[in-house]
Amino acid sequence: MSYTLAIDIGGTKFTLAAFDGDRLVLRHSAATNREAGRDWMLEQVARIVAAWKQQASFDRCGVGFGGPVDFARQRVACSTHVGGWQDFDFPSWTQKELGLASVLDNDANAGALGEFLYGAGRHRDPLFYMTLSTGIGGGIVSGGEILRGADSYAGEIGHLTVRPGGPPCLCGSQGCLERMCAGLWLERDYGMPAAELFARPDFVERYVVDLALGLKSCIMLLNPSRIVIGGGISKAGDRLFSPLRAELRRQITNWSRARIDIQPAALGDDSVLWGAAALARLKQARMENKECL
Ligand SMILES: [Zn+2]
Repeated sequence: MSYTLAIDIGGTKFTLAAFDGDRLVLRHSAATNREAGRDWMLEQVARIVAAWKQQASFDRCGVGFGGPVDFARQRVACSTHVGGWQDFDFPSWTQKELGLASVLDNDANAGALGEFLYGAGRHRDPLFYMTLSTGIGGGIVSGGEILRGADSYAGEIGHLTVRPGGPPCLCGSQGCLERMCAGLWLERDYGMPAAELFARPDFVERYVVDLALGLKSCIMLLNPSRIVIGGGISKAGDRLFSPLRAELRRQITNWSRARIDIQPAALGDDSVLWGAAALARLKQARMENKECL
């Protein structure tokens, strides 16, 4: 039996999964040690894969990375949350340490593809996927493919400015959507976990104003068939989604008949893993000159 290995490297947690075709058969998730940096993370990944290799064999690998990725060069550009990743050649590492060829993409791009193929975004083209978690990322699927743009930076909704002159963001700009709405900052700004904040309707009412400003730009530029939101904060469910839809209805330009179709991710915490596995299968199929996943 030959499995596909999927790796999701995030700022709060990292997760590995083994897929047998379209079936997720093994899964391991643990907290990211942000201070320990890149080498610690890679050691964890290598250790888990070594243990899995006792019971399974792998012949391809997909990696979703929580930060900008240069897709053409197959390198991590950087991580704003965890040190040591700048210009990292992840596929060379998987080849050398795991014995596996791999394909690397930004986690939100992988999540977008995962939801498009298997989750809440099925048959919804173009699809916009946003991860609302420690940080905020975005991915676009158009024409059945991830739309990466000229330099792999399409979909970076987290660093749209929603509050000009607002508080400084990790990216060096001010008042970014990520700075105003991501989990990392909510905890610091309000001194309590996001889960507690979203139990307070007065907080949510203010929160969705900034979130909708970001998504409004997406709707006006892309007119997506659906927007799927994943990541830890999306688990607030209707307490978040109902006020968000109402706020977007209020903000979207009157004459625009662009739909406001916003749904939580159907694959829960695993959108990135499903997408990373699909990317790995797609790469292998293309190398073998087959146009199927
Ligand atoms: Zn920013």
